[in-house]
Amino acid sequence: MTTVYLNGEFKPLSTASINVLDRGFTFGDGVYEVIPIFNRKIFCFDEHMQRLENSLEAIFMDNPYSSIQWRSIFEELIETIEESEQSIYLQITRGVTERDHDITIAKNPTIFVMPRPVEKKNFSVGINAITHEDIRWQYCDIKAITLLPSVLLRYKANQQGAKEAILIRDGYITEGAASNVFICKNGEVFTPLKDKHVLPGITRDLVVEILANNNITHLETVISEKELLNADEVWITSSTWEIVPVTQLNNLPVGTGETGALWKKVDDLYQEFKSVYCL
Ligand code: PMP
Repeated sequence: MTTVYLNGEFKPLSTASINVLDRGFTFGDGVYEVIPIFNRKIFCFDEHMQRLENSLEAIFMDNPYSSIQWRSIFEELIETIEESEQSIYLQITRGVTERDHDITIAKNPTIFVMPRPVEKKNFSVGINAITHEDIRWQYCDIKAITLLPSVLLRYKANQQGAKEAILIRDGYITEGAASNVFICKNGEVFTPLKDKHVLPGITRDLVVEILANNNITHLETVISEKELLNADEVWITSSTWEIVPVTQLNNLPVGTGETGALWKKVDDLYQEFKSVYCL
């Protein structure tokens, strides 16, 4: 039985329900976070809280809770779960109002937090990805719940036997449908700059920090589709998938078609960081 948090109460998931006039349902009017739990510890709590704050500010909402309050909700939920590897899904919508675009009528946000087991992943053989035009909106730096484009992109990828779609806007890579992207060429690592077209991934930022701390040459820059297709290695990153090597792009091998040495090195460093952080 999964216990969740909904508007001030802890209750079984099966009894948690919301009003059909919730603006999350009628407008997709809300934001979310996915926060990894390893060894029953919250990983990168402050970074996720800061991104939540930024997302809320961008949609003109106040954060309903302080960091201390959020932490205590997460910790209470972590107590209820058996698996040591989890993620916390947190969603805040603008709450229940009549179906009217006007946001000033919304007074009480809906706050939902749910722990979820993380599927044991084995990406050591690499995944297939496709490339696709970035069909999303212009505010991709907001972690908004309106994910229809990403859902469709993942479906298209899956239809072609791939796990992710790497998105191209005006000839340049932005990110994956639900991940950030890194490429390697001649021993150097590149990732797109953070801007309005990219979600500032917590895993992305951590990987950049790990690269810097270990003197691995890297650059945050624009990356063309051609550079992606000619890369020696391609990785995608996210909180639940971590660092995943992409060994086939559009059914063609990336580099040798095997997982790369740089990926292995950076993944080992990431795993080490995580295990020390979550001791
Ligand atoms: N970009 C998008 C569009 C995402 O949805 C996600 C998370 N699922 C990421 C990047 C990765 O972000 P994080 O490392 O914080 O999970």
